[in-house]
Amino acid sequence: CGIIGIVGSASVADRLLDGLKRMEYRGYDSSGICTLHDGALVRRRAEGRLANLVGVLASDPAPGHVGIAHTRWATHGAPTAANAHPHATAEVAIVHNGIIENFKELRAELAAKGRVFESETDSEVVAHLISAEVEAGADPVAAVRAVLPRLRGAFALAIAFRAHPELLIGARLGSPLVLGYGPEGEDAEMYLGSDALALAPLTQRITYLEEGDWVVLRRDGAQIYDVHNTPVTREIRPSGASA
Ligand code: GLU
Repeated sequence: CGIIGIVGSASVADRLLDGLKRMEYRGYDSSGICTLHDGALVRRRAEGRLANLVGVLASDPAPGHVGIAHTRWATHGAPTAANAHPHATAEVAIVHNGIIENFKELRAELAAKGRVFESETDSEVVAHLISAEVEAGADPVAAVRAVLPRLRGAFALAIAFRAHPELLIGARLGSPLVLGYGPEGEDAEMYLGSDALALAPLTQRITYLEEGDWVVLRRDGAQIYDVHNTPVTREIRPSGASA
């Protein structure tokens, strides 16, 4: 339902939570966050209100300068902490808005290869598909490029890689996703959000990704690719301007 991601130069957990709060008006049933810290994916999730996630983080913080977060409105699987996003393997964490229509086939294929699922969601297949590519030696860009054409339905995705704390990847098809440009230089940061409102306190310079676009964010900038995997540039607008 709500997605925010930050490739930052300072701690991101509080800012990710603030972004989730700004998207509360959309409704949600659970929430979660994953940061990259000391070579690990640090994941915290909670059922119910954001205050519950704040409580989890108070006893189990999520340090790190890079992370993704999500408020979920369940379509497949009960609104429990185990079904809350991010969904993750040892190597990859993802948050997803929308519905992966062919998740049953993908799940059966992955299960036949011995992959074990922790949730009842349609979304978890995306984490496993990308992780399988990474485990086979693909870099993050190649892994996402290989997996996107396999997904049917509607999605906005933010993806984090345990071994690549310098980047996040976003993708959209049928669900909105916005790229935000932060400061430049020493404090350089880049942002991703399903809603321009979520990024409003962070930046006023945004790009609306187009259908089929995917994007690799690093602190010092972003590379957008279109649905044919061709590098493209998209207009940067002041937020508040209509899409
Ligand atoms: N279909 C996914 C799920 O049920 C994502 C729902 C959403 O957009 O929040 O977990």
